[in-house]
Amino acid sequence: MNQPAFSLCVYCGSRPGADTAYLALAERVGEWIGRHQGQLVYGGGRSGLMGCVAQATLAAGGRVVGVIPRALVEREFANHDCTELHVVDNMHDRKRLMAERADAFLALPGGIGTFEELFEVWTWRQLGYHDKPIGLLNTAGYYDGLLSFLQHATAEAFMNPAQMALIRADDSLERLLPTLVQAAGLAPAAQLDAI
Ligand code: AMP
Repeated sequence: MNQPAFSLCVYCGSRPGADTAYLALAERVGEWIGRHQGQLVYGGGRSGLMGCVAQATLAAGGRVVGVIPRALVEREFANHDCTELHVVDNMHDRKRLMAERADAFLALPGGIGTFEELFEVWTWRQLGYHDKPIGLLNTAGYYDGLLSFLQHATAEAFMNPAQMALIRADDSLERLLPTLVQAAGLAPAAQLDAI
């Protein structure tokens, strides 16, 4: 593959989670990216959902850009299978490079690292630092509690509906991924049928 059809930055857990449905989802996301001749940008580790989405992207023929801080190379098992693996000085450089290399952002289930990355690109977007689409894949109801809290924050006037509208939350991969890629002004190379 020369030029990828799109570049999707995926934030997700460095752990596998309690339910195998999460790993299965990460694998399907990677397959979707590879099958549509896309590029995954992610944190560059082999552990948890992160490793799973990367290996599935590669297995399906996609490109993978991993970005990992030097201090986490051992802790998160740096993935030397990546098409490009960037070892950077610190977490700020990691997140900046990941954001620069992405056409769109997608969060899968994860922990505080995932939350922080999602909220950072969301706040950057509302401040106008970028205009890239942001998606939240709410599989198995994992983010139901967060989404209802955000509705509460909106009802209590600490957020407004326009801010909420900057995130597309969906429980369907087949709906959300094409929507994000198209909102970024790009089109997946292959058919958009379900995988
Ligand atoms: P987690 O969702 O906690 O399993 O973390 C997923 C990824 O987010 C890991 O690669 C973490 O290194 C990364 N991450 C990014 N920013 C942070 C942060 N401020 N605190 C913890 N992890 C972070």
